[in-house]
Amino acid sequence: MTSDDERPRTPEGSGRPGARRVLPGLATLLPATTELYLDLHSHPELSGAERRTAARFADWLAEDGFHVLRGIGGHGVAATLSNGEGPAVLLRAELDALPVAERTGVPYASTVTVPGPDGRPVPVMHACGHDAHLACVAAAARWLAAGRDSWRGTLLVVGQPAEETLSGAVAMLEDGLYDRITPPDVVLAQHTASFPAGMVAHADGRVLAGSLTLEVGFEGEGGHAATPHLTADPLLAAAGTVTRLSTIVARETDPAERLVVSASSLRTADAGHTGNMIASRAVLHVTVRAFSEAALDRAALAVERIARAEAGSAAMPPRVTVARSSRSGVTLADPDVTAAVRSAHVAAFGPSRVTGWPATSATEDFPLLTGAGAHLHGRPGIRGAYWMLGAVGPAQWAAAPGTGAAEKFRSLPGNHSPRYLPSVRLTLETGTTALVTAALARLTDRAD
Ligand SMILES: [Zn+2]
Ligand SMILES: [Zn+2]
Repeated sequence: MTSDDERPRTPEGSGRPGARRVLPGLATLLPATTELYLDLHSHPELSGAERRTAARFADWLAEDGFHVLRGIGGHGVAATLSNGEGPAVLLRAELDALPVAERTGVPYASTVTVPGPDGRPVPVMHACGHDAHLACVAAAARWLAAGRDSWRGTLLVVGQPAEETLSGAVAMLEDGLYDRITPPDVVLAQHTASFPAGMVAHADGRVLAGSLTLEVGFEGEGGHAATPHLTADPLLAAAGTVTRLSTIVARETDPAERLVVSASSLRTADAGHTGNMIASRAVLHVTVRAFSEAALDRAALAVERIARAEAGSAAMPPRVTVARSSRSGVTLADPDVTAAVRSAHVAAFGPSRVTGWPATSATEDFPLLTGAGAHLHGRPGIRGAYWMLGAVGPAQWAAAPGTGAAEKFRSLPGNHSPRYLPSVRLTLETGTTALVTAALARLTDRAD
């Protein structure tokens, strides 16, 4: 990508509606992009420990002439390419992987393990596609750096740590991200999902749910399992809470509203691991997903009310504590920015490769980087667009059981599965093109 002949130009259509447009210069970018992806995939790092991943990403951007800052909010990377007057557009990707043992069987599968808190090895895998997001952002950054004659403004690139723990965006912002780079006008991101590679999907309004995790503690007198009448038995109150939690959705929530309340773990502490002891403490984790802040708060209050009522019904009531942690906001697509990005994608891919996206109960800390995080960065005017990137290759799609798309979606391994396997070429090609065309739609928008 050094000679003028190979320099990327603004993509142009063939004039036929629905025809596939190819991003000029993409083919020359793909070998290095693929190499980066395969390297990241076979060297995954857990949230907060993304040292090597961050270094590779930062080095790539420095090579393309970006001014690169490292170590923001942990291993966060922020890079700037100034190219005259115009809007500032930020492309964001995540650095972290998951504690999952890969079972894809591909030659580049991760065999990485790291020592866990108890000393036992913890397997690590890029099971959420963040390696693909990084490779696509890296390729898009390289394309836009080489093709800077075709746009004006400031291109910003962020490699965010610890998305899976919903702590990386807040850490970067609290470490002064937007004081250390030009604050963006628009933030763009994409996420791989289990629909055909080669396609992108846009939501109207709500893209992903907001979430809240609650830790509910029950504490009281433990004792001998043969004399339960002398104990408070905190485990019983916790178990009663688990079975009653489903009523928050089934009996307290309008059927038209989408809400998820899941008891995700229950464990006992303090001598609770032997068969003849009743533990003095039980800890229950509950995850709530909803599409409004009010619904999250209402569900959290309901969890607390049920826990206290279950405990209170005992002859010797255990004490109840409720702590809220790792909250994330609803990911909303800004209507104007999303419309512009969607049009750019239709122009680039043709209408048959751009589809709709029904809001899902997965969650993200992406909204904090937009105006929704103004309580952290003081800039309510930052707008965001977030789209989904198909990652299932044609052979995997054809082999998935089911006749229609809905049946296939259910049977394909989704994000966080040990068998999650994005199709390399199609995902990288489409993801890079989607980012470049989305960025150009803003960077060449003089009215902004
Ligand atoms: Zn994930
Ligand atoms: Zn993810």
